[in-house]
Amino acid sequence: MSVVGIRMNARECRACRGEVGHVVLDLGDQPACDYFPLSDDPGPDPVYPLQMWLCSHCGLAQLLDDPTVPEESKGTEPVALVAQAADAVARAAAAGLLPPGARVAEYGSPHGGSWLGLLAERGLRPVDGTGEADVILDCFGMMHAADQAAAITERADRLAPGGVLLLQYHSLDTIIRLGQWNALRHGHYAYYSTTALSGMLAGIGFSPRSAWIFDLYGGTVLLAARRDGDATSDSDAVPDETVRAIVAAEARTGVRDPDVLRELQHVVHTRASTLHSWLADSAAAGRTVLGYGAASRAVALLNKAQVDSDLLPAIADASPGKRGLRMPGTTIRVISPTELTAQHPDEVALFVSDLMAEVRAAYPEIEAQGGRWVNADAIGSSPARS
Ligand SMILES: [Zn+2]
Repeated sequence: MSVVGIRMNARECRACRGEVGHVVLDLGDQPACDYFPLSDDPGPDPVYPLQMWLCSHCGLAQLLDDPTVPEESKGTEPVALVAQAADAVARAAAAGLLPPGARVAEYGSPHGGSWLGLLAERGLRPVDGTGEADVILDCFGMMHAADQAAAITERADRLAPGGVLLLQYHSLDTIIRLGQWNALRHGHYAYYSTTALSGMLAGIGFSPRSAWIFDLYGGTVLLAARRDGDATSDSDAVPDETVRAIVAAEARTGVRDPDVLRELQHVVHTRASTLHSWLADSAAAGRTVLGYGAASRAVALLNKAQVDSDLLPAIADASPGKRGLRMPGTTIRVISPTELTAQHPDEVALFVSDLMAEVRAAYPEIEAQGGRWVNADAIGSSPARS
């Protein structure tokens, strides 16, 4: 198997510059997951290698190469993301980390999801440009930086004495435990464990102090870190029990073990073949199956599963920006939710499982017409229905 082995090229870890590591997940050549061609564009779409590499020195899981150019985001913010932001802000505020009047700088995600409105409601003041701030917030932002060492240094350098750095990320522990191999995508350069991120923080004289876990994406961590010299007491100088518990759980999972991460490669084949079989069976039985959620994570799944429009004619998406386009690497059209319900599907494969409650509430016609929603990530595990 070609995915196993030491990286032979003299390339460096995006964080620690170490040169030794392992390719732990290889999705082969994949189309850029954020470039949705027009539906009448015949293709073929360009493809690029998509591989995850685990640094042996610092343990950061990362995108090996990225020859793609990021496209402008066209997504809409899921209700689940908005609700989690409010929850996270409330918890950080309850911990005293968001005092009214504090200056805040946000490093956001190009996919949206700013917390600045929520923070302004609590009396925090946004800082323009690159000025100093008492709270530096990074919500799914830093993963988009090709140079991880530069990105964390830039954030730390802007933090005022005594300030707090808040980092939120979809955790590698979650990706491993839930087999979320299709979290790997071009444009997302880092897949953080709290263990590896703690090492990155130590490298710039910071330490994690507290952490919160959220259900978003199956397990998302908000980590609060401070400068080591800023501790006001001995107990304030070390990670609290919330951080220690996460790091201990990650050690049990084996977030630094390349053999553990390689298990994701087996999940790829299982999930892909299960999805293909399920769609083929549905087609043979004469059932109408459509999709929902033209998300980046659906692209690699559809391509690995060799699913095209003969098995899945269309995927609905609430984002008007994706209408008239097709899924990268396929002829599957992106349609509106109105078109979806008009076709009276027997089953709707949901490619963004966080949306399950939201779509069932938003499109009751699907179930009222006798159809059902199926979590595309859980097909084959019982029950497939959420
Ligand atoms: Zn490293």
